[in-house]
Amino acid sequence: MNLQDFVRDIPDFPKEGILFKDITPLLSNPKALIRCADVLAGYCPADMQVDKVIGIEARGFIIGGMIAERLGAGFIPVRKKGKLPYAVNAQSYGLEYGEDTLEMHVDAIIPGEHILIHDDVLATGGTAQAVCKLVEAAGAVVVQCNFIMELDFLNGRDKLNAPVVSALKY
Ligand code: AMP
Repeated sequence: MNLQDFVRDIPDFPKEGILFKDITPLLSNPKALIRCADVLAGYCPADMQVDKVIGIEARGFIIGGMIAERLGAGFIPVRKKGKLPYAVNAQSYGLEYGEDTLEMHVDAIIPGEHILIHDDVLATGGTAQAVCKLVEAAGAVVVQCNFIMELDFLNGRDKLNAPVVSALKY
């Protein structure tokens, strides 16, 4: 099975010039969904400690949750500004298309924990970099940044200090 066959290109979404990588075909196919989570969880070496997986709103929640289950780790949602109900730490960041702020509950991480960050797409790296900053500010360690796909030509991985893995590269 080639996971690439389940990623649909949408030109000029959400604005002109962006080729949007739509993962909904992958999510709706039972075999592709399981395969994707298995592949990404498999990128974690057996001796790598992962206490919690962070999923980035919103597409990072789905496979991120499945990876957490496979690793026996907890799950932390990092959400857009104003969505989380309890006290938060916030980090602003630049996006391939715009600017935004991400938030995480202040008690989501215990200092010293080992954190895996997951999202669907690594583009410029600004989003994942902001989440790395939230994790580091909470006194924890990012052990891996894990993506379904990476838009290689944007060099997003250069912004990230932690090891970067992805199932698909474009
Ligand atoms: P970036 O901060 O530039 O690495 O952008 C990553 C975030 O934006 C991820 O949460 C992605 O879901 C989303 N994103 C950026 N570019 C694309 C794209 N071409 N197709 C789908 N999602 C994208």
